[in-house]
Amino acid sequence: MQGLKILQKTAELHEARWWEAEPGNKVHCYLCPRHCHIGEGQAGFCYIRANEGGKLYSLGYAHPAAMQIDPIEKKPLNHFLPGTRVFSMGTAGCNMGCFFCQNWDISKSRADQVGSSYVPPEDVVLLAIRNHCDSIAFTYNEPTIWGEYVIDICHAAKEAGLNTVMVSNGYITYDAFHDIYDHIDAANIDLKAFTEKFYGKITLTHLQPVLDALLWLKNETNVWFEITNLMIPTLNDAAEETRELCDWILQNLGPAVPLHFTAFHPDFKLQDKPRTPPETLHAARRIALQAGLRYVYEGNIYSDGAHTSCPHCNTLLVKRSWHDVQLNRLQDGHCPKCGARIPGRWANPHGKTPQKLYQHAQATARSKYSHLNL
Ligand code: SF4
Repeated sequence: MQGLKILQKTAELHEARWWEAEPGNKVHCYLCPRHCHIGEGQAGFCYIRANEGGKLYSLGYAHPAAMQIDPIEKKPLNHFLPGTRVFSMGTAGCNMGCFFCQNWDISKSRADQVGSSYVPPEDVVLLAIRNHCDSIAFTYNEPTIWGEYVIDICHAAKEAGLNTVMVSNGYITYDAFHDIYDHIDAANIDLKAFTEKFYGKITLTHLQPVLDALLWLKNETNVWFEITNLMIPTLNDAAEETRELCDWILQNLGPAVPLHFTAFHPDFKLQDKPRTPPETLHAARRIALQAGLRYVYEGNIYSDGAHTSCPHCNTLLVKRSWHDVQLNRLQDGHCPKCGARIPGRWANPHGKTPQKLYQHAQATARSKYSHLNL
């Protein structure tokens, strides 16, 4: 828990959602399954939701700590507008405690410890338009913990015809789930392992709430979603665990949900494990395909496992090199050879950004955000 100085250093305070008052000026945050009970002048586990005077405030609101233009394949999303650009952003803080975090410089920092700019929701959209992006991704740290900002950006994005993407650990309560995901077009959810032991020891959370969120996504939303499993040598790469993870996906989410096995590199508190050997990802992919999953990818390595092939006639459909799309043979979302429909969102329903809006975005970026180099 952090002290009151967090609040004093933050210019704009935005009252949070998903909290209730408790005796003694405490608050209960029920945005994620941690259910923090936060004393006055303190913040929750995620650092960026803090109690000031018996009210909960979202310190990440309008204060992104990282903004960048990425290919959509980097999220990773392979069945959502392939080859398009996505305006990607994150804040400080996180609600998980992963020892292997690759963005720990922001995720393990308080709001006042990271360099951030004040960017209100409508200006995020203008920066995305200015950079010819079709979508905005909430990523780098856990976007659930700045859900208020996410929702307001989504409203502005929809008005401008942009898509929105959550890249999330799936650690969210049902109380907040629909409030956020009903505004989202696509998501990539990390399923970091398939044992409670890993979740408890290595991420300081629990497995079941993540599985619940995947079920809600499948059964209660129209969000296009894919799953990522980062494979860490000796911690979550046992063949039996991979088989159980794939069987669970098949039985509960169906064979069409894309699954990405990605390679780990030593980072943060997990420096004593080696990089994931490519053979581990190849073996995991074989297990998943044998289990019956149709779209299984390998990431963070150069591999033929990055391509999309038709599961019916095996025609190569989308050829990728790392995050680059080199060839896309899909015809209106169908295999050009056998005509099979390939699940995903293959064309932007919103079309091209109107020239007038683009000019307005250029002018705003020049006058207010020239220091961001975006
Ligand atoms: S969102 Fe943050 S403050 Fe709220 S319960 Fe989760 S970790 Fe705690």
